[in-house]
Amino acid sequence: MKLKKKNLLIITIILGLSSTGVFYFTTKDNNTADNNKKITEKKSSYTKESIKQIEKLNIKDKIDLNKYSKTLDKAIFSEDFDRDYVTYYEGAKYYDNKNLIKYINKLAKDGTAINEINEIFDKFIEFSNFDINNAKRYLSYSFKNSSYKNQDIVTRVNLSLDKPYYTDTKKVEDDSYIYALVNKYNYVSTSYVPSNLKPLFNISSLKMVDVAADAYKEFVEGAKKDGITFIGTTAYRSAAWQKQLYDSYVNKDGVEKADTYSARPGYSEHQLGYSVDLNDPNYKEKRISPSDYEWIKNNAYKYGFIIRFPGGKEDITGYQEENWHLRYVGKDVAKEIHDLNITFDEYYDLYIAKHN
Ligand SMILES: [Zn+2]
Repeated sequence: MKLKKKNLLIITIILGLSSTGVFYFTTKDNNTADNNKKITEKKSSYTKESIKQIEKLNIKDKIDLNKYSKTLDKAIFSEDFDRDYVTYYEGAKYYDNKNLIKYINKLAKDGTAINEINEIFDKFIEFSNFDINNAKRYLSYSFKNSSYKNQDIVTRVNLSLDKPYYTDTKKVEDDSYIYALVNKYNYVSTSYVPSNLKPLFNISSLKMVDVAADAYKEFVEGAKKDGITFIGTTAYRSAAWQKQLYDSYVNKDGVEKADTYSARPGYSEHQLGYSVDLNDPNYKEKRISPSDYEWIKNNAYKYGFIIRFPGGKEDITGYQEENWHLRYVGKDVAKEIHDLNITFDEYYDLYIAKHN
C-alpha cells in the first residue's frame, strides 16, 4: 500500500512537471544561437534511411540536405520518382495526395513554374474532381473569375466552361439516363436514336425512353392528385427535327440569341429521349404557372425528374431558365440533385465523370 502511494506520487510529479514545461526549460537553458541552429538542422534533416536513398539515387549534389522537404522525402521512395524533377520535388509543398509525385511530374513536364505548381495544389488539389489535365486552366480561369469559389473553378473548367460554347466537344459514350450528359460541349451523333422509345400515356404522339415514359405517367398522375394538370408538348426529338427548329430560330433571332434558348442539332437533350417539355392547359399566359413550378420544384425529383435549366444557373447550363423542361435521371440522382441544389452538369462532373 505504501509503495503504491509512493509510485502514484512520482507519476503525479512527472506529469505535473511535463505539463508545466520542464522540457521547455531544459531547452531554454541551452538556447544560444548555435544550439538553436543545431536544433533546426536536426529537425529539418532527413532520416538515415532517406539519406541512404538520396545517395543511391545519386541526387545529393542537386539538393540541400539541410533544408528538409517532405515532398522530396516522399518522392525518393515513390515509383513515380523522376530525377529530372528533383528540384521540383524539393520546392513543392507537401499535400497528402496519393498522386502528388505524378502530378508534379506532369506539371513540370508541361513547363509549369514551381510557384504555379504550389498555387495550383494550394487552391485546387483538395477537390475530388481535381483533374491534373486541367490544372493550368484552373489557375488561369481563377485569375479571370476571382469571385468564384475554388471548388466551382474546378467544376466549371472540367465542364469546359472556360472555353467558348461548341468548342472542345465530346461525343456521349454512354446513353443510359444517369451517364448521358448532353450540353453545349457534349453531343450525340445526328443519326442517334434511342432504343426503347415508348409513347406517352396521355399524348401518344410524343415518345420517351420507356423508363422515362413510365416515370412521366407517375409524375402526371401525382400532380393530378394535387389538382394540377400537366401535359407534354415535346419529348423525344430527332436531330433532323432539332435542326429545323434551330434553323428557324436562327432565321428569326440570329445565332447568338438562338443559342441562348435552342440547342444545335446533336446537342439537344430531347434527342436522348429523357426529356419532356410540360404545359398546363389550365394556364393560358405561359406554359406553366408559378404555382405549377413550385409543385415541380418540390415534387419532380420524387418521380426521377430534375429541372434541367433552372433560373440563376444560366452560366453553367448555357441556357436561359426553362421551368417547363424536365429531364429524367432516376429517383436516386434526382433526389441528390434536388437536395444539393445543383445542376445536372455539376452533378455529372462531381459524381459521375472520371478524373485523372
Ligand atoms: Zn425542352
